[in-house]
Amino acid sequence: MAAKETLFLCLNCKHEYTGMFDPDHIQERTCPECRSNSVRKAPPRKAGASK
Ligand SMILES: [Zn+2]
Repeated sequence: MAAKETLFLCLNCKHEYTGMFDPDHIQERTCPECRSNSVRKAPPRKAGASK
């Protein structure tokens, strides 16, 4: 299984960044901006969303 490039969102400082997500090797992620570990995969963006 290859790692996929995935968009991540820091819940602490709202920084978005792209990183590699490997489902076979889940690891704790740290925000490169604020060093918080409150990083989640960003929700997929819907085309035509009003908000
Ligand atoms: Zn952050």
